Amino acid sequence: MTQKVEKVRFAPSPTGYLHIGGARTALFNYLYAKHTGGKFLVRIEDTDLARSSKESEEVIIRDLRWLGIQWDEGIGVGGDHGPYRSMERVDLYQKFIDQLLIEGKAYHCFCTEEESEAQREQQRALGEMPRYMGKCRCLSQEQIEEYKNQGRTSVIRFRVPEDQMIVVQDKVRGTVEFESNGVGDFIIVKSDGAPVYNFAVVVDDHLMEITTVIRAEEHLSNTPRQILLYEALGFAIPIFAHVSLILGEDRTKMSKRHGSTHVDQYSSKGYLPEAIVNFLVLLGWSPETEEEIFTLSQLEQLFSLDRVSKNPAVFDIKKLNWINGQYIRAAELERITDLSIPFLVDAGLITEEEAVQKRVWVEKIVSAARPRMEYLRQIIDIAKLFFGDTVELEDEEAAEVLKAEHVRGLLTVFRDKVSEAEEVNTEFAGSVFKIIQKQTGIKGKNLFMPIRVALSGQCHGVELVDIIEILGREKMNARIDYVLNNLV
Ligand code: GLU
Repeated sequence: MTQKVEKVRFAPSPTGYLHIGGARTALFNYLYAKHTGGKFLVRIEDTDLARSSKESEEVIIRDLRWLGIQWDEGIGVGGDHGPYRSMERVDLYQKFIDQLLIEGKAYHCFCTEEESEAQREQQRALGEMPRYMGKCRCLSQEQIEEYKNQGRTSVIRFRVPEDQMIVVQDKVRGTVEFESNGVGDFIIVKSDGAPVYNFAVVVDDHLMEITTVIRAEEHLSNTPRQILLYEALGFAIPIFAHVSLILGEDRTKMSKRHGSTHVDQYSSKGYLPEAIVNFLVLLGWSPETEEEIFTLSQLEQLFSLDRVSKNPAVFDIKKLNWINGQYIRAAELERITDLSIPFLVDAGLITEEEAVQKRVWVEKIVSAARPRMEYLRQIIDIAKLFFGDTVELEDEEAAEVLKAEHVRGLLTVFRDKVSEAEEVNTEFAGSVFKIIQKQTGIKGKNLFMPIRVALSGQCHGVELVDIIEILGREKMNARIDYVLNNLV
């Protein structure tokens, strides 16, 4: 017997940016497909007409691609089961709506939204679960015709079977049971003819031959409705895997309050896609080892739903920053330079032309800065010190350093050494202190610190040898002059 090929999908609603949680769902689906040798499909669920937009769809697709998540079938890729936007599939849904209506498993409901809301309000007041009580469940054909003649619009509701236990077999959450009596007949087609998510998703997953539905926990409560539809339509029910919520550090659902929640907020701050992927996978999945750094292809080998936790994951920005820092330092300097330049240009530190002309110099800056970077935008603050001929003292500690009595003499000697040097390079930076120490007897902190502060205004930060080499002769002389004239 040949084993069934797994097929999974990511089905974002194009109602905003790609959320961190959505990106994780996409990633888990992608990894599951890769790990099992299956297929991964992406489709767009745009049934919420008021909130869906083309821009959102574009951003979601762009960000998925940026993360390196590729799909075998679906939006932008094509395949045998298109179209891949719900609202372009309305004709395909009709057959199944007709089937349900003919079999009496769905019915037209003429209750107005006001009536339904009043009913829900009443139920809430009585502490009951708000649900439709079935007023239009048993309308005769004549009544239906009469309502239609009166020009009343209708929705189509699914007739929920009574007294049924609906069992969700969930790969992450185990067996979860729902009573059908608590569900209430739900709308599957709105009065304007648009399908409702719960209906479209079932037809789409069936027609697209989805075997496993991996999605966010918030959809668990939709699953009983969907299972009832699968049963009513005679479709095979897929395996479900509802992945736990992502919480902020205060253990409430991750939201704007907790900082950046969209993938593009991270890309625009200079997080690397592979770092985001690495971080996201650890939000809910854990490897068998203590290891924490994984490439996408390693994850394709390792990922399994068995190691996806039922407990909520906590979004720890410090951990993301740590992971991103690891990737920044491990990446090719050339790539990190390419990615850092737009930040330097944006901040007005260099122009694009200068970035090309002084490429080697810019690479040196990036190389000196990256041990201290958690994300690339931080290059602006770190690299600032390499621009300009004046010096701004960072804090009181720096000002204090320049007050020592020997500083003026020391800086003058240093300035001479810089002027006399054949070339100001790494070698010079490495030897100049020994020479000055010999000549003046000043050593240790008393030697390094005033020079560091005079050149950079900072007591801590980028390595002094890097500062010397990157500033070069002219800038160092200009700065020492500035300090001698203005600050000591
Ligand atoms: N369109 C839904 C969402 O964006 C996904 C539904 C599903 O995966 O079944 O949350």
